[in-house]
Amino acid sequence: MNAINPPTGSPETQMLHAPYPLKDAYGALSMPVYQAVAYEFETAAQMEAAFTGKSPEHVYSRVSNPTVQYFEQRVKTLTGADEVIAFNSGMAAIANTFIAVAQAGANIVTSPHLFGNTYSLIAFTLNDFGVEPRFCNLSDVAEVEKQLDRNTCAVFLETITNPQMEVADLQALSEICKKHRVPLIADTTIVPFTAFKAAAFGVDVEVVSSTKYISGGATSLGGLVLDYGSYDWRQSSKLRTLAGQDGLSAFSLKIRREIHRNLGACMTPEVAAKQLTGLETVAIRYERAAATCRALAAKVRPLDGVASVNYPALEGHPFRDVSRRQFGEYPGAMFTFDVVSREAAFRFIDRLKLIRRATNLFDHKTLAIHPASTIFGTFSEALRQRMDVSQNTIRISVGLEHIDDLYGDFAQALLRD
Ligand SMILES: *Cc1c(COP(=O)(O)O)cnc(C)c1O
Repeated sequence: MNAINPPTGSPETQMLHAPYPLKDAYGALSMPVYQAVAYEFETAAQMEAAFTGKSPEHVYSRVSNPTVQYFEQRVKTLTGADEVIAFNSGMAAIANTFIAVAQAGANIVTSPHLFGNTYSLIAFTLNDFGVEPRFCNLSDVAEVEKQLDRNTCAVFLETITNPQMEVADLQALSEICKKHRVPLIADTTIVPFTAFKAAAFGVDVEVVSSTKYISGGATSLGGLVLDYGSYDWRQSSKLRTLAGQDGLSAFSLKIRREIHRNLGACMTPEVAAKQLTGLETVAIRYERAAATCRALAAKVRPLDGVASVNYPALEGHPFRDVSRRQFGEYPGAMFTFDVVSREAAFRFIDRLKLIRRATNLFDHKTLAIHPASTIFGTFSEALRQRMDVSQNTIRISVGLEHIDDLYGDFAQALLRD
Protein backbone atom coordinates (compact mmCIF):
# COMPACT_ATOMS: atom_id res chain seq x y z
CA MET A 1 0.00 0.00 0.00
CA ASN A 2 0.98 3.57 -0.68
CA ALA A 3 2.82 4.90 2.35
CA ILE A 4 1.82 8.49 1.64
CA ASN A 5 -1.96 8.21 2.11
CA PRO A 6 -2.79 6.62 5.45
CA PRO A 7 -6.33 5.19 5.63
CA THR A 8 -9.10 7.09 7.37
CA GLY A 9 -11.90 5.82 9.61
CA SER A 10 -12.07 4.44 13.13
CA PRO A 11 -8.83 3.23 14.78
CA GLU A 12 -9.86 -0.43 14.15
CA THR A 13 -10.24 0.23 10.43
CA GLN A 14 -7.09 2.29 10.23
CA MET A 15 -5.16 -0.41 12.06
CA LEU A 16 -6.23 -3.11 9.56
CA HIS A 17 -5.12 -1.01 6.61
CA ALA A 18 -2.07 0.69 8.12
CA PRO A 19 0.45 1.28 5.32
CA TYR A 20 3.93 -0.20 5.38
CA PRO A 21 6.70 2.36 5.89
CA LEU A 22 8.12 1.24 2.49
CA LYS A 23 6.37 -0.32 -0.49
CA ASP A 24 6.82 -4.10 -0.38
CA ALA A 25 8.91 -5.39 -3.30
CA TYR A 26 6.36 -8.16 -4.08
CA GLY A 27 3.17 -6.38 -3.01
CA ALA A 28 2.63 -8.78 -0.10
CA LEU A 29 -0.75 -8.09 1.51
CA SER A 30 0.39 -9.47 4.89
CA MET A 31 3.56 -8.07 6.36
CA PRO A 32 6.33 -10.57 5.51
CA VAL A 33 8.52 -12.07 8.24
CA TYR A 34 11.79 -10.22 7.74
CA GLN A 35 13.93 -13.04 9.06
CA ALA A 36 17.20 -11.10 8.78
CA VAL A 37 19.74 -10.24 11.42
CA ALA A 38 21.59 -7.46 9.59
CA TYR A 39 20.84 -4.94 6.82
CA GLU A 40 23.17 -3.88 4.02
CA PHE A 41 24.13 -0.36 2.93
CA GLU A 42 25.50 1.14 -0.29
CA THR A 43 28.00 3.51 1.27
CA ALA A 44 29.90 4.13 4.50
CA ALA A 45 28.15 7.48 4.87
CA GLN A 46 24.72 5.79 4.72
CA MET A 47 25.89 3.30 7.34
CA GLU A 48 26.99 6.12 9.59
CA ALA A 49 23.66 7.90 9.20
CA ALA A 50 21.66 4.76 10.04
CA PHE A 51 23.86 3.68 12.95
CA THR A 52 23.74 7.12 14.54
CA GLY A 53 19.97 7.43 14.18
CA LYS A 54 20.08 10.23 11.60
CA SER A 55 18.28 8.08 9.03
CA PRO A 56 15.53 5.52 9.74
CA GLU A 57 16.99 2.35 8.15
CA HIS A 58 17.26 -0.85 10.15
CA VAL A 59 20.78 -1.93 10.99
CA TYR A 60 20.51 -5.01 13.23
CA SER A 61 17.38 -6.88 14.33
CA ARG A 62 18.05 -6.70 18.07
CA VAL A 63 17.71 -2.93 17.67
CA SER A 64 14.82 -2.88 15.19
CA ASN A 65 13.24 -5.12 12.58
CA PRO A 66 10.70 -4.27 9.83
CA THR A 67 8.10 -6.86 10.90
CA VAL A 68 8.33 -5.93 14.57
CA GLN A 69 8.24 -2.22 13.73
CA TYR A 70 5.07 -2.70 11.69
CA PHE A 71 3.45 -4.52 14.62
CA GLU A 72 4.38 -1.60 16.90
CA GLN A 73 3.01 0.82 14.31
CA ARG A 74 -0.34 -0.98 14.17
CA VAL A 75 -0.67 -0.96 17.98
CA LYS A 76 0.05 2.78 17.87
CA THR A 77 -2.66 3.31 15.26
CA LEU A 78 -5.15 1.31 17.30
CA THR A 79 -4.44 2.91 20.67
CA GLY A 80 -3.27 6.42 19.86
CA ALA A 81 -0.16 5.89 22.01
CA ASP A 82 2.76 8.20 21.23
CA GLU A 83 5.25 5.36 21.23
CA VAL A 84 4.92 1.55 21.33
CA ILE A 85 7.83 -0.80 21.97
CA ALA A 86 7.53 -4.59 21.57
CA PHE A 87 9.39 -7.22 23.61
CA ASN A 88 9.71 -10.98 23.69
CA SER A 89 7.41 -11.37 26.72
CA GLY A 90 5.18 -9.41 29.05
CA MET A 91 7.80 -9.74 31.78
CA ALA A 92 10.43 -8.20 29.48
CA ALA A 93 8.12 -5.22 28.87
CA ILE A 94 7.60 -4.80 32.63
CA ALA A 95 11.30 -5.22 33.46
CA ASN A 96 12.37 -2.70 30.79
CA THR A 97 9.82 -0.23 32.13
CA PHE A 98 11.07 -0.41 35.72
CA ILE A 99 14.71 -0.31 34.66
CA ALA A 100 13.92 2.86 32.69
CA VAL A 101 12.36 4.71 35.63
CA ALA A 102 14.02 3.26 38.75
CA GLN A 103 17.47 3.64 40.24
CA ALA A 104 19.13 2.79 43.57
CA GLY A 105 17.40 4.77 46.31
CA ALA A 106 14.11 5.04 44.40
CA ASN A 107 10.92 3.33 45.51
CA ILE A 108 8.00 1.77 43.62
CA VAL A 109 4.56 2.10 45.22
CA THR A 110 2.38 -0.87 44.33
CA SER A 111 0.05 -3.54 45.66
CA PRO A 112 1.03 -7.01 46.92
CA HIS A 113 -1.73 -8.21 44.57
CA LEU A 114 0.45 -8.75 41.51
CA PHE A 115 1.21 -11.35 38.88
CA GLY A 116 3.72 -13.72 40.56
CA ASN A 117 6.78 -12.81 38.48
CA THR A 118 6.04 -9.10 38.68
CA TYR A 119 5.87 -9.41 42.46
CA SER A 120 9.19 -11.26 42.46
CA LEU A 121 10.77 -8.69 40.09
CA ILE A 122 9.85 -5.82 42.40
CA ALA A 123 10.33 -7.54 45.77
CA PHE A 124 13.58 -9.37 44.97
CA THR A 125 15.26 -8.62 41.62
CA LEU A 126 14.99 -4.84 41.67
CA ASN A 127 15.43 -4.73 45.43
CA ASP A 128 18.88 -6.33 44.97
CA PHE A 129 19.81 -3.18 43.00
CA GLY A 130 18.65 -0.84 45.75
CA VAL A 131 15.09 -0.16 44.56
CA GLU A 132 12.66 -0.24 47.48
CA PRO A 133 9.29 -1.97 47.08
CA ARG A 134 6.41 -0.25 48.89
CA PHE A 135 3.45 -2.58 48.96
CA CYS A 136 0.16 -1.03 50.05
CA ASN A 137 -3.57 -1.18 49.48
CA LEU A 138 -4.14 0.62 46.18
CA SER A 139 -7.89 0.72 46.80
CA ASP A 140 -7.21 3.10 49.69
CA VAL A 141 -6.06 6.33 48.06
CA ALA A 142 -5.17 7.98 51.37
CA GLU A 143 -2.88 5.06 52.22
CA VAL A 144 -1.22 5.30 48.79
CA GLU A 145 -0.65 9.01 49.23
CA LYS A 146 1.19 8.38 52.51
CA GLN A 147 3.63 6.08 50.68
CA LEU A 148 4.61 8.66 48.06
CA ASP A 149 7.72 10.77 48.51
CA ARG A 150 10.33 12.48 46.37
CA ASN A 151 12.06 9.15 45.69
CA THR A 152 8.93 7.45 44.34
CA CYS A 153 9.66 6.64 40.69
CA ALA A 154 6.25 5.10 39.86
CA VAL A 155 2.90 3.98 41.12
CA PHE A 156 2.36 0.59 39.51
CA LEU A 157 -0.78 -1.53 39.38
CA GLU A 158 -2.65 -4.23 37.48
CA THR A 159 -6.03 -3.02 36.27
CA ILE A 160 -7.79 -6.13 37.63
CA THR A 161 -5.63 -8.14 40.00
CA ASN A 162 -5.49 -11.87 39.65
CA PRO A 163 -6.63 -14.01 41.42
CA GLN A 164 -8.01 -11.41 43.92
CA MET A 165 -10.01 -9.47 41.25
CA GLU A 166 -9.37 -6.13 42.91
CA VAL A 167 -10.03 -3.03 40.81
CA ALA A 168 -8.22 0.18 41.74
CA ASP A 169 -9.86 3.53 40.99
CA LEU A 170 -7.54 4.83 38.29
CA GLN A 171 -8.87 8.38 38.21
CA ALA A 172 -8.43 8.77 41.97
CA LEU A 173 -4.91 7.33 41.81
CA SER A 174 -4.06 9.48 38.81
CA GLU A 175 -5.07 12.61 40.73
CA ILE A 176 -2.71 11.91 43.60
CA CYS A 177 0.03 10.84 41.17
CA LYS A 178 -0.30 14.20 39.40
CA LYS A 179 -0.27 16.05 42.71
CA HIS A 180 2.96 14.30 43.71
CA ARG A 181 4.41 14.34 40.16
CA VAL A 182 4.74 10.56 39.96
CA PRO A 183 3.96 8.59 36.77
CA LEU A 184 1.07 6.09 36.88
CA ILE A 185 2.05 2.83 35.19
CA ALA A 186 -0.52 0.08 34.64
CA ASP A 187 -0.38 -3.54 33.53
CA THR A 188 -3.57 -3.70 31.47
CA THR A 189 -3.23 -7.30 30.25
CA ILE A 190 -6.55 -8.39 31.75
CA VAL A 191 -8.77 -6.12 29.60
CA PRO A 192 -7.29 -5.49 26.13
CA PHE A 193 -6.78 -1.96 24.85
CA THR A 194 -9.50 -2.47 22.24
CA ALA A 195 -12.01 -2.43 25.12
CA PHE A 196 -10.32 -0.29 27.77
CA LYS A 197 -8.72 3.09 27.06
CA ALA A 198 -6.16 3.38 29.85
CA ALA A 199 -4.97 6.89 28.91
CA ALA A 200 -8.51 8.27 29.35
CA PHE A 201 -8.28 7.21 33.02
CA GLY A 202 -4.94 8.90 33.65
CA VAL A 203 -2.54 6.03 32.96
CA ASP A 204 0.77 7.44 31.66
CA VAL A 205 2.43 4.19 30.63
CA GLU A 206 0.64 0.92 29.82
CA VAL A 207 2.39 -2.46 29.87
CA VAL A 208 0.76 -5.50 28.31
CA SER A 209 1.52 -9.20 28.03
CA SER A 210 0.60 -9.65 24.36
CA THR A 211 1.03 -13.39 24.99
CA LYS A 212 -2.54 -13.29 26.22
CA TYR A 213 -5.38 -11.81 24.11
CA ILE A 214 -3.28 -10.30 21.35
CA SER A 215 -1.25 -13.37 20.34
CA GLY A 216 -4.45 -14.92 18.98
CA GLY A 217 -4.86 -18.16 20.87
CA ALA A 218 -1.59 -18.64 22.75
CA THR A 219 0.50 -18.63 19.58
CA SER A 220 3.53 -16.82 21.03
CA LEU A 221 5.05 -14.88 23.91
CA GLY A 222 5.22 -11.12 23.63
CA GLY A 223 5.00 -7.86 25.53
CA LEU A 224 4.29 -4.22 24.81
CA VAL A 225 5.07 -0.89 26.40
CA LEU A 226 2.74 1.94 25.39
CA ASP A 227 3.80 5.46 26.25
CA TYR A 228 0.96 7.97 26.00
CA GLY A 229 3.27 10.97 26.29
CA SER A 230 1.21 12.37 29.18
CA TYR A 231 3.89 12.53 31.87
CA ASP A 232 6.48 15.27 31.94
CA TRP A 233 9.73 13.40 32.62
CA ARG A 234 11.47 16.61 33.65
CA GLN A 235 9.85 15.71 37.01
CA SER A 236 11.75 12.39 37.16
CA SER A 237 15.10 12.55 38.94
CA LYS A 238 16.40 9.76 36.71
CA LEU A 239 15.14 10.95 33.32
CA ARG A 240 15.34 14.71 33.89
CA THR A 241 18.59 15.10 31.96
CA LEU A 242 17.22 13.16 28.97
CA ALA A 243 13.92 15.04 28.95
CA GLY A 244 13.91 17.63 26.17
CA GLN A 245 11.93 20.84 25.83
CA ASP A 246 8.53 19.29 26.57
CA GLY A 247 9.77 16.38 28.71
CA LEU A 248 7.25 14.01 27.19
CA SER A 249 9.26 11.42 25.30
CA ALA A 250 12.21 10.80 27.65
CA PHE A 251 10.82 7.48 28.91
CA SER A 252 10.44 5.82 25.51
CA LEU A 253 13.73 7.28 24.32
CA LYS A 254 15.47 5.79 27.34
CA ILE A 255 14.02 2.37 26.53
CA ARG A 256 14.37 2.55 22.76
CA ARG A 257 17.91 3.91 22.63
CA GLU A 258 19.40 2.21 25.65
CA ILE A 259 17.59 -0.38 27.73
CA HIS A 260 15.78 -2.36 25.01
CA ARG A 261 18.96 -2.95 23.02
CA ASN A 262 21.18 -3.48 26.09
CA LEU A 263 18.95 -6.13 27.64
CA GLY A 264 18.22 -7.74 24.27
CA ALA A 265 14.70 -8.95 25.06
CA CYS A 266 13.48 -7.99 21.60
CA MET A 267 10.39 -9.44 19.91
CA THR A 268 11.31 -11.72 17.02
CA PRO A 269 9.88 -11.18 13.51
CA GLU A 270 8.00 -14.53 13.50
CA VAL A 271 6.24 -13.54 16.71
CA ALA A 272 5.44 -10.07 15.37
CA ALA A 273 3.84 -11.64 12.27
CA LYS A 274 1.70 -13.96 14.43
CA GLN A 275 0.68 -11.15 16.76
CA LEU A 276 -0.13 -8.86 13.81
CA THR A 277 -2.73 -11.45 12.79
CA GLY A 278 -3.93 -11.75 16.40
CA LEU A 279 -4.32 -7.99 16.63
CA GLU A 280 -6.73 -8.02 13.68
CA THR A 281 -9.27 -10.14 15.57
CA VAL A 282 -8.61 -9.31 19.23
CA ALA A 283 -11.60 -6.97 19.57
CA ILE A 284 -14.16 -9.53 18.38
CA ARG A 285 -12.56 -12.48 20.18
CA TYR A 286 -12.54 -10.49 23.41
CA GLU A 287 -16.20 -9.53 23.07
CA ARG A 288 -17.22 -13.17 22.73
CA ALA A 289 -14.96 -14.52 25.51
CA ALA A 290 -15.89 -11.76 27.97
CA ALA A 291 -19.63 -12.17 27.34
CA THR A 292 -19.32 -15.94 27.90
CA CYS A 293 -17.25 -15.29 31.03
CA ARG A 294 -19.81 -12.98 32.55
CA ALA A 295 -22.71 -15.32 31.81
CA LEU A 296 -20.81 -18.39 33.03
CA ALA A 297 -19.70 -16.70 36.28
CA ALA A 298 -23.34 -15.85 37.06
CA LYS A 299 -24.57 -19.30 36.06
CA VAL A 300 -22.16 -21.33 38.19
CA ARG A 301 -22.62 -19.17 41.31
CA PRO A 302 -25.68 -21.08 42.60
CA LEU A 303 -24.18 -24.54 41.97
CA ASP A 304 -23.66 -26.84 44.96
CA GLY A 305 -20.01 -26.91 45.93
CA VAL A 306 -19.33 -23.34 44.79
CA ALA A 307 -18.72 -21.25 47.92
CA SER A 308 -18.34 -17.93 46.06
CA VAL A 309 -17.62 -16.54 42.60
CA ASN A 310 -15.33 -13.57 42.09
CA TYR A 311 -15.95 -11.49 38.95
CA PRO A 312 -16.24 -7.71 39.20
CA ALA A 313 -19.41 -7.45 37.07
CA LEU A 314 -21.43 -9.66 39.42
CA GLU A 315 -24.09 -8.27 41.73
CA GLY A 316 -22.65 -7.49 45.16
CA HIS A 317 -18.98 -7.43 44.07
CA PRO A 318 -17.05 -4.88 46.17
CA PHE A 319 -15.48 -3.30 43.05
CA ARG A 320 -18.57 -3.46 40.82
CA ASP A 321 -19.08 0.30 40.45
CA VAL A 322 -15.48 1.22 39.75
CA SER A 323 -15.18 -1.75 37.41
CA ARG A 324 -18.26 -0.67 35.46
CA ARG A 325 -16.96 2.88 35.19
CA GLN A 326 -13.63 1.71 33.84
CA PHE A 327 -14.39 -1.46 31.89
CA GLY A 328 -18.12 -1.30 31.14
CA GLU A 329 -20.17 -4.52 31.13
CA TYR A 330 -17.26 -6.92 30.79
CA PRO A 331 -14.28 -6.74 33.15
CA GLY A 332 -12.16 -9.32 31.35
CA ALA A 333 -12.68 -12.96 30.39
CA MET A 334 -11.37 -14.49 33.60
CA PHE A 335 -13.07 -15.22 36.90
CA THR A 336 -12.17 -17.06 40.05
CA PHE A 337 -14.33 -19.11 42.38
CA ASP A 338 -13.86 -20.65 45.78
CA VAL A 339 -14.71 -24.15 46.88
CA VAL A 340 -14.58 -25.33 50.49
CA SER A 341 -11.00 -26.62 50.61
CA ARG A 342 -7.78 -27.22 48.72
CA GLU A 343 -8.80 -30.88 48.34
CA ALA A 344 -12.13 -29.89 46.80
CA ALA A 345 -10.27 -27.56 44.41
CA PHE A 346 -7.94 -30.37 43.31
CA ARG A 347 -10.94 -32.75 42.90
CA PHE A 348 -12.76 -30.22 40.69
CA ILE A 349 -9.70 -29.70 38.50
CA ASP A 350 -9.04 -33.44 38.19
CA ARG A 351 -12.63 -34.12 37.08
CA LEU A 352 -12.74 -31.57 34.27
CA LYS A 353 -13.35 -33.16 30.85
CA LEU A 354 -13.49 -30.15 28.51
CA ILE A 355 -11.84 -27.27 30.39
CA ARG A 356 -8.08 -27.72 30.15
CA ARG A 357 -5.71 -27.93 33.13
CA ALA A 358 -3.17 -25.24 32.21
CA THR A 359 -1.85 -21.85 33.12
CA ASN A 360 -2.06 -18.89 30.70
CA LEU A 361 -4.92 -16.50 30.09
CA PHE A 362 -7.10 -15.92 27.06
CA ASP A 363 -6.23 -18.91 25.01
CA HIS A 364 -9.14 -19.77 22.68
CA LYS A 365 -9.61 -22.81 24.94
CA THR A 366 -10.97 -22.39 28.46
CA LEU A 367 -8.32 -23.09 31.10
CA ALA A 368 -8.48 -23.92 34.82
CA ILE A 369 -5.71 -23.62 37.40
CA HIS A 370 -5.27 -23.66 41.18
CA PRO A 371 -3.10 -20.52 41.65
CA ALA A 372 -1.92 -21.24 45.23
CA SER A 373 -0.20 -24.52 44.28
CA THR A 374 1.09 -23.47 40.85
CA ILE A 375 1.75 -19.80 39.98
CA PHE A 376 2.30 -19.04 43.68
CA GLY A 377 3.39 -22.59 44.57
CA THR A 378 6.99 -21.69 45.46
CA PHE A 379 5.97 -18.75 47.67
CA SER A 380 5.70 -19.32 51.45
CA GLU A 381 2.21 -19.74 52.88
CA ALA A 382 2.75 -16.49 54.86
CA LEU A 383 3.53 -14.60 51.65
CA ARG A 384 0.56 -16.19 49.87
CA GLN A 385 -1.64 -14.98 52.72
CA ARG A 386 -0.23 -11.45 52.44
CA MET A 387 -1.05 -11.60 48.73
CA ASP A 388 -4.57 -12.97 49.45
CA VAL A 389 -3.97 -16.09 47.41
CA SER A 390 -6.25 -18.70 48.95
CA GLN A 391 -5.93 -22.49 48.82
CA ASN A 392 -9.66 -22.66 48.06
CA THR A 393 -9.53 -20.58 44.87
CA ILE A 394 -9.66 -21.84 41.27
CA ARG A 395 -9.05 -19.52 38.33
CA ILE A 396 -10.90 -19.92 35.05
CA SER A 397 -9.73 -18.21 31.86
CA VAL A 398 -12.70 -18.33 29.51
CA GLY A 399 -12.15 -19.15 25.84
CA LEU A 400 -14.36 -19.35 22.77
CA GLU A 401 -16.32 -22.56 23.43
CA HIS A 402 -20.13 -22.56 23.66
CA ILE A 403 -21.28 -21.57 27.15
CA ASP A 404 -23.55 -24.63 27.49
CA ASP A 405 -20.57 -26.95 27.08
CA LEU A 406 -18.53 -25.03 29.66
CA TYR A 407 -21.42 -25.00 32.12
CA GLY A 408 -21.94 -28.73 31.58
CA ASP A 409 -18.30 -29.42 32.43
CA PHE A 410 -18.56 -27.30 35.59
CA ALA A 411 -21.71 -29.07 36.71
CA GLN A 412 -20.28 -32.58 36.19
CA ALA A 413 -16.94 -31.69 37.86
CA LEU A 414 -18.75 -30.39 40.96
CA LEU A 415 -20.93 -33.50 41.37
CA ARG A 416 -20.04 -35.64 44.37
CA ASP A 417 -19.51 -39.31 43.68
C1 LIG B 1 0.94 -13.26 31.86
C2 LIG B 1 1.02 -11.96 32.55
C3 LIG B 1 2.23 -11.27 32.66
C4 LIG B 1 3.53 -11.83 32.11
O1 LIG B 1 3.51 -11.96 30.74
P1 LIG B 1 4.45 -13.00 29.95
O2 LIG B 1 4.12 -12.70 28.52
O3 LIG B 1 4.08 -14.37 30.39
O4 LIG B 1 5.86 -12.66 30.31
C5 LIG B 1 2.24 -10.06 33.31
N1 LIG B 1 1.12 -9.53 33.83
C6 LIG B 1 -0.06 -10.15 33.74
C7 LIG B 1 -1.28 -9.51 34.32
C8 LIG B 1 -0.16 -11.39 33.11
O5 LIG B 1 -1.34 -12.02 33.06
